[in-house]
Parts: sequence; C-alpha cells; structure tokens
Amino acid sequence: MTCTEFLSKLDDYFDGKVDADVLAEVQAHVKKCSHCEVVLDTTRKTISIYRENEVYEFPAELRERLHAAIMKKCSKAKV
Ligand SMILES: [Zn+2]
Repeated sequence: MTCTEFLSKLDDYFDGKVDADVLAEVQAHVKKCSHCEVVLDTTRKTISIYRENEVYEFPAELRERLHAAIMKKCSKAKV
C-alpha cells in the first residue's frame, strides 16, 4: 500500500467500511510509514473531538489539509 492508497482508504477506515484485508494493509502501512501514522492518529483525535461536540461530519477542508500535508512529507521521504 502506498501513501496515496492509504489516504484514499482513510475515510472508509474511520467509517468502519473497510474489509479485513484492507484493514490489515492500512495497519501494516502505518507501522512502516511514520507520516501516515501521524495522520491516522491526528484524524482519530480530531474525530473524537468532533464526536464529543456532537458534530459527526468530518470537515472536508480539514481532511484536504491533512492529505496535502502528508503527501508533501511522503513525497520527500520516498516512502
Ligand atoms: Zn504513508
């Protein structure tokens, strides 16, 4: 799994919509890619904050910013 594929699965991952094999790939990717691990962690924290405030819709703008940041880092790191 590449960083791009990881990011494309991220929404489904948090929606609980990914298959077990995809889930395993996501978990394998974050183990070897620290950038994506940070994204996963940040996204998880952000979602929990939103849920506490009873806002269930994850803001698209924030997601796009996260994606842009991770792609910048990952392209430099050649993961
Ligand atoms: Zn990655």
